[in-house]
Amino acid sequence: MDAGGNGSARGVGYLMKYLHPGFVDVDHPAFGAPARASFGEKSENSPRPTLLLHCCCAPCAAGAVERLVNVFELTFYYYNPNITEKEEYLKRFHELERLGEHFSVPVIDGGDGEDFFEAVEGSENEPEGGKRCKVCFEMRLKKTAELAREYDYFATTLTLSPLKNARLINEIGERAGEAAGSEYLKTDFKKRGGVLRSKALSEELELYRQDYCGCVFSKRRL
Ligand code: SF4
Repeated sequence: MDAGGNGSARGVGYLMKYLHPGFVDVDHPAFGAPARASFGEKSENSPRPTLLLHCCCAPCAAGAVERLVNVFELTFYYYNPNITEKEEYLKRFHELERLGEHFSVPVIDGGDGEDFFEAVEGSENEPEGGKRCKVCFEMRLKKTAELAREYDYFATTLTLSPLKNARLINEIGERAGEAAGSEYLKTDFKKRGGVLRSKALSEELELYRQDYCGCVFSKRRL
């Protein structure tokens, strides 16, 4: 049996129908025989491999969800201690919940977690994409990787943003997965029209689309 739970008719071909180069790392073992075999072992109770998808916000998740939801048993994980303003944090969370309801994907609120200001002390004035963001990615993916021990894979919607370096995010994700003992899936959701799809689906569902990344430092630069 395989990921789809319908016998050997599915498997790599089934996954590749939905996951293309630029979307998800096609060199990942998920696309090879060992992973197919392990998916098969799980198929009676879980027809698809499970994926914990770290989500920074609903619009970015909107650009990724359609590529994943038919392949994986998805869970959205909202862990963003970088959004320190409560109202903004809740607004983005509730929008992600709305998206989750639309696609029947459960959402976990990761809560407060680490102290963002303490973690980025000294890099407050860095531009977006600088040292502060690296720490911010590490913080969010470390905790996601720890929770992902209960899932087959984890990934993040952070790679959808044209302002974010997907290669750096993927390096951090892989390191976090190795440290935690969980499996990171490399992605670059911005490719193949990901950003356009994010905008279109956000408009269709009337999702709130913020105009800054998330921390107060990115807001001050507007
Ligand atoms: S700009 Fe975005 S990625 Fe960078 S530190 Fe702020 S919230 Fe994190």
